[in-house]
Amino acid sequence: MSTLGIYVHVPFCGKKCGYCDFYSVCYSKVQAELYVEAVLRNIRHYADKSRAVDTVYFGGGTPSLLTVEQLGAVIAEIRGRFALDPNAEVTIEANPNTLTPDKLAGLRNAGINRLSVGVQSMSDAELRLLGRSHTAERAARAVLDAADAGFRNISCDLMLGIPSQTPDSLAASIARLAELPIQHVSAYILKIEEGTPFDCGEVRASLPDEDTTAELYLLAVRELDRHGFAQYEVSNFAKCGFESRHNCRYWRCEDYLGIGPAAHSCYGGQRFAVPRDIEGFIGSPVQPTEVTDEHPCGFEEYAMLRLRLAEGLSLADVPEHRADIEKKLPPLIKAGYVRFDGERVSLTPEGFLVSNSVIETLVF
Ligand code: SF4
Repeated sequence: MSTLGIYVHVPFCGKKCGYCDFYSVCYSKVQAELYVEAVLRNIRHYADKSRAVDTVYFGGGTPSLLTVEQLGAVIAEIRGRFALDPNAEVTIEANPNTLTPDKLAGLRNAGINRLSVGVQSMSDAELRLLGRSHTAERAARAVLDAADAGFRNISCDLMLGIPSQTPDSLAASIARLAELPIQHVSAYILKIEEGTPFDCGEVRASLPDEDTTAELYLLAVRELDRHGFAQYEVSNFAKCGFESRHNCRYWRCEDYLGIGPAAHSCYGGQRFAVPRDIEGFIGSPVQPTEVTDEHPCGFEEYAMLRLRLAEGLSLADVPEHRADIEKKLPPLIKAGYVRFDGERVSLTPEGFLVSNSVIETLVF
């Protein structure tokens, strides 16, 4: 039986963060109810009992704004329409402010076993600059309550390159996070997205410069490693055995089905996307989709995605490109960007920092 991951995009937020380009609208109870009905309809539409669903991921937006009953109904529908693996990894992204002990117990009962908490920083000053609605203490409380509720697989998002962030403040955030009962960290460099409120001269001028951002990234890799979180992807770090199984599907070119406005899929031999339009999603019997790639996972895409992973690219998987890749390796190895053990090509932390250009050199 072939496996499948299901991604559910929940496009609601309490308040839009100034730096965020993810698709979300302001939460409304009525619209959330209509949205959940549409998700259930779509799960029924794609029903396939021959697919073993081994990962489910509620992303957003702020999926934890949905009620426990709504989330439970979506999981039950997936269980009824697909072959849901009893050991499936079921993740929800959550804003710390939405996580009360009752809510956390309800999420566990609904079948959610992995929590991805949007912490971003353990400095209140940095959280204020980001416009986050929670404090560091609130984030820590949410994680501790989650562990008390039985969550044994907790991830925290950490942001690098926040205005005013310094190597010392980042190291302090990591040290504080590492004291918490968490198993995974996603550390993303803040990128100013076009058209967001952060896309202005004032914010750009307050960002750490390129060299400091590079220093912050390499410091994060080092400090997280020191605290037991090994880097397994450009931006992801985990204790042994706690790598995100769902996200690894993306980097390994495995099938995933996305449901909800702005959700992407690699499914049925195609890549397709649902438009960023909640009204259109709610109002359609089946979610509208636009094909973005009719022949996904060709060599270039496969190699690019594989090289994002610390395990890298096995040249045995791309024998017809071996000679070409081997020819390009020496200067990249000399520069400290790439490792090669005779079989596997992988990027070093310095290589991950400039991964786009390193991967482009190797693959194109
Ligand atoms: S960062 Fe998260 S909480 Fe903020 S607007 Fe984006 S999705 Fe919503």
